Amino acid sequence: MGIVIALAGLAVGSFLNVCIDRLPARQSLLMPRSHCDACKTPLATRDLVPIASYVLLRGRCRHCSTAIPLRIPLVEAGAALAFFAWWWRLGESWQTAIAVAITCLLIVGTVIGIEHRLPLSRTRRTRHGS
Ligand SMILES: [Zn+2]
Repeated sequence: MGIVIALAGLAVGSFLNVCIDRLPARQSLLMPRSHCDACKTPLATRDLVPIASYVLLRGRCRHCSTAIPLRIPLVEAGAALAFFAWWWRLGESWQTAIAVAITCLLIVGTVIGIEHRLPLSRTRRTRHGS
C-alpha cells in the first residue's frame, strides 16, 4: 500500500511542477501539453514518467539536449515522500488527505518563491527603493 501511495505522490509531484512553471506566468495548467522549454518539442509519454525519465535522459531534453532543471525530479521525489510520510503517520484518513493537500500547496508556494526570489516579508523593502 505504501508503494501505491508513493507512486500517487510522484504523479501529483509531476503536476505540481506544471503548477510551479505555469501559475506565475498565468498560463493554463491543462493546455498545451508538456513540452521542452528550450526547443518547444512536446514531450512523449515515455518522457513524462516521474524521476525515471529524468534519470534515463540524464537530465537532458531528448531533442535539444538542454538541461532539465534538477527541481523537476526533486519536487516529484518530495511529493512522493510527503504522501508516504503522511500516510505512514496518519493512515488512510481524511486527516492524511488534508495534510497532503496542504503540503502540496506549501511545495508549490515555496518553490515558486525561491525561483522568483520573492521576499518572505515585504516590510523590509520599500516600494520606492531602487
Ligand atoms: Zn528541448
